[in-house]
Amino acid sequence: MSGQLFIISAPSGCGKTSLIRALRQRRADIALCVSHTTRAPREGEIDGLHYHFTHNSTFEALLAQDGFLEHAQVFGHYYGTSHDAVAALSAQGQDVVLELDWQGALQVKQRRQDALWIFIIPPSLAELESRLRGRASDTDAVIARRLEGARRELAAARDADFLVVNDDFDLALQQLEAIFLCQRQRRARVIDAHPTLADDYALRPA
Ligand code: 5GP
Repeated sequence: MSGQLFIISAPSGCGKTSLIRALRQRRADIALCVSHTTRAPREGEIDGLHYHFTHNSTFEALLAQDGFLEHAQVFGHYYGTSHDAVAALSAQGQDVVLELDWQGALQVKQRRQDALWIFIIPPSLAELESRLRGRASDTDAVIARRLEGARRELAAARDADFLVVNDDFDLALQQLEAIFLCQRQRRARVIDAHPTLADDYALRPA
């Protein structure tokens, strides 16, 4: 049986990347799918680990071959999740996380009804604004663009399956972890993990 597919989204400034990093430190059995992007690598980012950094023409060729489960343009660059990247991780039976913007999340929810969508939200719009302003290096124009993007992103949260309010980081991390652990106790997955028990107790659907 393949692992559960999760989508995690959040407006920028909500601590999504830190939460996912902390979650994976606690749970090595949660795999993060590596996306393709046409944006340039930031300092410290490694090709194949953080993203598959890809030229526009290569991305468009893959797109034309229906190579992506989802794709979107975010801040003027392509981002996409290849079918191959998801299939390789799912085949190992791991829980797989797709870190996506709302446009990609909606596409995955349409194509994969089994996918669960977790949305990380800030405790208030005022708090989000102050977090975005806290990055001293950004100009007012950049902050305004981020805020506008964050509002658009947040408007999609009503379609998510789970919401995590990131006010207290440790609590948000516990809540996030709980969502993953809870899904593992679904009957179908317990049966899959314990086939002998499933036979002994006649746990399989008739
Ligand atoms: P960044 O460039 O800061 O790494 O990511 C910018 C935005 O793109 C974030 O909201 C991130 O979640 C989103 N993103 C990253 N990878 C993908 C992807 O494969 N597909 C989609 N739709 N969005 C992505």
